[in-house]
Amino acid sequence: MKKLAVRNLRLCTKDCLCLYVCPTGATDTENSVIDPAKCVGCGVCAEACPSGAISLIPLEMPPQQPKTEEIKGLLRAFARRRTEEEAAARRIGRASEKEGLRKLMAAAAMSTRLVTEDVLREAGFMLPQCPEVREILEKLADEPPAPDFPEETLWRLLGKLPMPGGSGEKKEISYRCGVCGLVFPLTEGETPECPVCGAKGDKLLPLENA
Ligand code: SF4
Ligand code: SF4
Repeated sequence: MKKLAVRNLRLCTKDCLCLYVCPTGATDTENSVIDPAKCVGCGVCAEACPSGAISLIPLEMPPQQPKTEEIKGLLRAFARRRTEEEAAARRIGRASEKEGLRKLMAAAAMSTRLVTEDVLREAGFMLPQCPEVREILEKLADEPPAPDFPEETLWRLLGKLPMPGGSGEKKEISYRCGVCGLVFPLTEGETPECPVCGAKGDKLLPLENA
């Protein structure tokens, strides 16, 4: 399964170890975001990072666990109630002149929001792979809920989401570079080229034959 490295900037102490070990230079960026075009998902940076700031995320998520419509309906009803509770906490906070109460209500609203998000994930909105997410985004695109709704961003997001049940399940093939020895994964259909030394063609061996 093809993976990409991502860096959590809040944990990163900027000691630059990942820059030294990365075979492709993907971590050496001006904006501190690991370059997805260069990352081959080898995981060397994550192993080297002393702060646990780098994680590897799969490019294609497995399907969400199946749940019956009844369970999904109950979870969504529960999430709706929690949303109402969050709104009530915010109303109380806004109406109060006591700072302590405002802070308490802000904390209650945030904690309720976290539970709601968790419940909604369980109810079928486990980003980004589930069809429910695409359905709800398509509905928002058809009927934007407010004049300043960011439609352009929504369309860009829709373009990146996998089509449900679509043909997006491409096989992953690992290659070993016969020139520099790097092992790197590629998704079926991509043109093999070593990300380190640029070798192509018969210099690259599919891993099962390497
Ligand atoms: S996973 Fe490998 S290629 Fe990607 S940033 Fe880390 S060391 Fe570099
Ligand atoms: S090795 Fe970890 S802590 Fe060091 S610069 Fe890289 S991400 Fe940051």
